[in-house]
Amino acid sequence: SSQSSDVEVDDHLQQMQQGASNILVAVRARPLTKKEQEVDDHQIVQVLDNNVIVLLDPSDWQNIPEEAFRQNRTREKQYAFDYAFNQNASQDSIFEKTTKFLIDGVLNGFNATVFAYGPTGAGKTYTMIGEVDGPGLMLKTFLEIFSKIEEMSGERDYTVKLSYLEIYNEIVRDLINPSMETLEIREDPIKGVVIAGLTEIMATSPEHVITSIRNGNRRRTQEPTQANETSSRSHAVLQIIAEHRDKASGVEAEVLVGKLNLIDLAGSERAANTKNRGLRLIEGANINRSLLALGNCINALCEMNEKNTKVYVPYRDSKLTRLLKDSLGGNCRTVMIACISPFAGSFEDTYNTLLYANRAKHIKTTSQRNVVNVQYHIARYTSIISQLRQEILDL
Ligand code: ADP
Ligand code: MG
Repeated sequence: SSQSSDVEVDDHLQQMQQGASNILVAVRARPLTKKEQEVDDHQIVQVLDNNVIVLLDPSDWQNIPEEAFRQNRTREKQYAFDYAFNQNASQDSIFEKTTKFLIDGVLNGFNATVFAYGPTGAGKTYTMIGEVDGPGLMLKTFLEIFSKIEEMSGERDYTVKLSYLEIYNEIVRDLINPSMETLEIREDPIKGVVIAGLTEIMATSPEHVITSIRNGNRRRTQEPTQANETSSRSHAVLQIIAEHRDKASGVEAEVLVGKLNLIDLAGSERAANTKNRGLRLIEGANINRSLLALGNCINALCEMNEKNTKVYVPYRDSKLTRLLKDSLGGNCRTVMIACISPFAGSFEDTYNTLLYANRAKHIKTTSQRNVVNVQYHIARYTSIISQLRQEILDL
């Protein structure tokens, strides 16, 4: 019944908030497009009780009359998730259920990651970035952070910064301040995963943030074959960095640094099809290595959880997983939003996406805070100030 599933979801959220369970998996089905409706207006996806996805096999009706199909849905499959959103779900409700609850943690020094997974055209960019009259998770997150910070401004000093990068063909590029340079991912003992040379800008207002994200999107790598479309093979990663310290504690205060990654992943279709098509595709180097590695890391983390033993997690296998090393396993809370299409012609992609999402929901890890000593920052700021002084002298 829907009542018992609500209880389960609440338990899971509570566990996640307490750090016992670190992944929340949601599935979002978009509406059929006009073009799709003209081809076949059946919907292969149904949502039950806000957390169950029913997937129908189109071969069940393509050869039999509608009535017979309704009475004999022999091959339908059901999957339960933390949340399932149907085609009418608003951008607001997606934010409320999947991302809003992470923000207190990020403002208290925890890391978190929200990623949209799914094949090209399933609604990832719509979910993460959205449209002018229906902004997605990226802007809504900033609005919430700004309002929380305002509430707490009496007690705490906050600095909110953002960076925006893409991973395309295993090359990391800055989307705020683009150059031909490819950026290196490093691990810092204090700050965790760091991308050397990546531009971080102060997030000063919602308008400023949305302009930065829009401009960044225009700089995403385009696929040569689809000149007007943003590449389906580029991962876009927005990082929000929130640093704060207590006003009352003075210079000796510890600084808490929380990082939130909001990721519009590359299309999953190529990765999902490898099993069926075998080596040829892999050798064609068309495979998205980062997406495959993400799947492998998730599998390893699941195995670790199921067997309750340490398992090697191949974070180093790709740029994306290296970047997410402190966001998937240890020091982070993770939300996966699997985006699916209800179009009959997309059955295989939808099925593969549900399998991937179903696998991911078993990860459990523990979180810890990122505490950075204020002295570290003072040293950094001192060097920036002297650099600025020098620039003024040079003028
Ligand atoms: P992806 O980024 O996964 O390739 P998009 O987000 O670009 O897919 O979505 C493909 C198309 O479907 C776009 O035209 C988008 O506006 C539309 N769309 C996606 N999700 C929804 C939704 N939930 N409601 C309405 N339209 C949507
Ligand atoms: Mg997209």
